[in-house]
Order: sequence, then C-alpha cells, then structure tokens
Amino acid sequence: MKKYILAIDAGTTSSRAIVFDKRGQEVAMAQYEFEQHFPKEGWVEHDPLEIWNTQKKAIQDVLSKNNIKASEIHSIGITNQRETTVIWDKKNGVPIYNAIVWQDRRTSSICVDLDQKGHAQTIQNKTGLVLDAYFSGTKIQWILDQDMNHRKKAEAGELLFGTIDTWLIWNLSNGKCHVTDPSNASRTMLYNIHSLQWDSELLKLLDVPEIILPNVMSSSEKIGNVQLEGWDEEIMISGIAGDQQAALFGQLCFKPGEVKNTYGTGCFCVMNTGNKPVKSKNKMLTTIAWQLDGETTYALEGSVFIGGALIQWLRDGLNLISSAEEIEELAKSVESNGGVTFISALTGLGAPYWDPNAFGAIMGITRGTQKGHLARAALEAIAMRSREIIIEMQKDAGIQYQGLKVDGGACKNNLLMQIQADLLNTVVIRPKTTETTALGVAFLAGLSSGFWKNQKEIETLWEKDKEFVPNQDIQSQNTILLWQERISKIITNES
Ligand code: ADP
Repeated sequence: MKKYILAIDAGTTSSRAIVFDKRGQEVAMAQYEFEQHFPKEGWVEHDPLEIWNTQKKAIQDVLSKNNIKASEIHSIGITNQRETTVIWDKKNGVPIYNAIVWQDRRTSSICVDLDQKGHAQTIQNKTGLVLDAYFSGTKIQWILDQDMNHRKKAEAGELLFGTIDTWLIWNLSNGKCHVTDPSNASRTMLYNIHSLQWDSELLKLLDVPEIILPNVMSSSEKIGNVQLEGWDEEIMISGIAGDQQAALFGQLCFKPGEVKNTYGTGCFCVMNTGNKPVKSKNKMLTTIAWQLDGETTYALEGSVFIGGALIQWLRDGLNLISSAEEIEELAKSVESNGGVTFISALTGLGAPYWDPNAFGAIMGITRGTQKGHLARAALEAIAMRSREIIIEMQKDAGIQYQGLKVDGGACKNNLLMQIQADLLNTVVIRPKTTETTALGVAFLAGLSSGFWKNQKEIETLWEKDKEFVPNQDIQSQNTILLWQERISKIITNES
C-alpha cells in the first residue's frame, strides 16, 4: 500500500513537492514560486507565511492532482534553503518579521564588529564557519534588536526561531514539533559541530536566548505526524537536511573523499570528509553533512559565485547566444580555446583567492579570435574555478577524491562535463536523476521509516546517465598553465 516517499524541497525561489517510488524514480511533482522582497540594497526577504502556503499547496496538489492518497505515502522528508531565518510567536504562529534570506547582507556590520573584537577564530573553531552575515546567528540578533519587546518575549520563551525546515515542520505538525537537524543547525553559527550542541558562549556573543532554539534531532529519524485537509491518513515526517547536504546524500557520496558539484547559477561543491570535521586552511566551510544511525558525517563546502551565471551573462549581457544550451554547439565549433582565457570574476573571487575586488577579464584575444573561442573559454572558466575548489578541498582533507558526481542545470552540457573531467583529470559522473536534493532527503526519510532497508539498498537504486573519462591531453595542461598565469594578473590582494 505505502508505495511512495514525499520529498518537500523548500528552495530559495520556489516551494516544491516531489513523490518518489521505491526505485527512487520521480513519480509526480508540484511547484509554486514565491515572491522575493528587496526592501533595501543588500537586503533580501521572504514572507514566511507565503512560503508555508505555497509549500502546503504544492504538497496537497502533488497528491490530489496525481490521484495519490496520503495512505500511499510511507513518510515525508524535508530539504530546504539553508540559513534563512524566521522568528515567530509561539501562541499564534505569526512571524514577528519577514524571513531574512541567506543572501541578505544587512548584518555585515555586526560581523565586522565581532571580527574586530577578535571572535572570528572562536566562531570558526566551534562552528566550522567563516564569520559572515550569510549565517543565521547575526540575523536572529538583528531581528530581536528591532524592538525591546521582541527581546523580552524571546527571553520569556514566547517566540520561536527556525530555519525553513523548522518553520515548515512546526506548521505541518500544528505547532507540536519545534525541531531541526544537525545539517541545518551547523549553518546557524550557534551550533558547536564538535560537541553537537547549541553553544552557550556563542549564544552569549550573539545575544540569542537558548529558549527560542529548536530541538536538534538526527537527519533521519521519526519526527512527528502531518494531517492536511482531505488526507485519508496522517503521514510521518522522518527526514531533514539542508539542500547542499541532501544533494551530497542523493549523489550517494557516503564515503570520505566522495564529492559532488552542483552547476547552477553558482557552483556548489561539497566533499564528504567522514566522521571527523576537517579544518580548512582556505576558508572553506566545515559543515555537518548528516547524522544517521547515531553517526555524524562531516563535509567541506566551497562555492564558486559565478558558474552558469557566466553563460547567462553571455546570453543577456553580450547577446552572444540566445539560449544557455546554445553555448555547447558554439564551443564545439572550434577545436580549442585559441589561446583565450576567460577569468570569470564578475563579482570578485571566492575560495581559494578571497579577493572581492578582483575583476573579470578576457585575455589572449587576437584578430583570429572567434565567438567559439569565447564560448569554449567560458566553459573552461566554470570548470577551472570548480577545479581550484576541489583541489584545495582535497589538500585540506588530505583525502584523494574519487571521481566527481555532478548535478544542477548546467551539468546537461556534455562538453562542459568533458572539460571538467579533463581539467581535473578525474572521472565525472552524471546521474539519471538530477533532482539529487529532493532524492537525498527522500532517501534519509525512507531509511528511518523503513521504506528502504539500508544504505546498501539505496546504492542499488542510483543510476548513472553518463560517465566522462579524462583525456590526458596537452591541451588541458596548457589551459591550466595559461589560467594560472593570467588569473595572477587580476588578483588585487595576493593573499
Ligand atoms: P539555479 O538552481 O541556481 O537557479 P539551475 O540548476 O536551474 O540553477 O541551472 C541554471 C544555470 O545553468 C543558469 O545559470 C544557466 O545559464 C546554466 N545552464 C543551463 N543550461 C546550460 C547549458 N546547456 N550549458 C551551460 N550552462 C547552462
């Protein structure tokens, strides 16, 4: 009877609900976008009630529109945009402020202040994170500081904090469950990833009362039940994971050294480092990947700001192509980059350079340069930046990576994937299901609810679409050498 797992994928721009069957195949999907609010330069907000309502609609529609009964769903898993912060009134569920989104920079000055007071190292040691406005801690502080009443109510236990997983589960369970999991908790800048507890020193530093924080459960555990209108039965929630960690699980990167890269607007690279947190020398983030069967798995995470966005810029900024897909044909129209290097630092450079003032550049152009050379150099730029992150991660972790699993919109580009394999000199593996985030949390939920027996069984479900085997050719070596020489010319801080 119970044939399916329902994955809730609460993203940054849309609320999705996906039904997977026992073979891990997508059976049905519903998706609703919600509004992005930009009240001031650098501020990004969501309406938490709109997130809840669109998510609820997606969950109800994916079942009703596909004639799937609640009683056919074994359990629910939730994956979510991370760090985004909601604080609400425990009595009536009304948020006291809009959700402050992970991209929001308004608390940068709080971070500068903490840095000047010498707290950056303590924060990194305890949380694995680089002190930054990105994470939830300073966002909570900011909301509570808007009104003396907020702080009083928080201290009296009348308010609750949550990232989006917590907010949705609280609503789905009618206020019964105020919970999160370690993969989300580890992005708040308040959670000690060694002791696996909210950290009292950090709570004091950021002036956050512990009473508002959710209970941290494991990523794969029976959490509570949901009953929405029209359902013939309750469904259990039994899995939670932040989106990037869920994708790592969905790619079956279960062993240390296994790594996935998501090629979306940016590139998000996460490497499993096993049961010990690895401290990065290159300001990559140390994070909890998941907690399962009483074991905590850690990961290193690094991102490239401009990934597929470079292709968007060639399309919308330069009108070089009219759709992102066209870039592959154009790049294939030439044999090589023709000596052109495209430095994709359109918004500065992240790891391992950390140079916000670095500028983008196209170098090596001659009268013989064609559009195809630019297209090819652009694909090489996406692959080179990902290569740099993966190589630094490998150095940090002291583990040899074993192949690269890929997902995200731009991984459909076969040439880009081949270039990535050549430049990294490693096999690049693309799965059939590129919905790895939702699939990952479906796996986590299905493991604890007993839908799947164990990780071994899950491994048999994963299907490869294509494997890209590296060609160790001189061309790739030249691309790497040229890139290294030329990127050094645009670095402003020489860190
Ligand atoms: P996000 O989740 O960040 O919105 P997606 O995973 O949907 O991103 O991927 C979209 C990105 O991938 C866009 O930046 C787009 O330019 C890029 N993209 C899509 N198709 C291709 C392609 N065939 N080749 C290269 N880039 C592509």
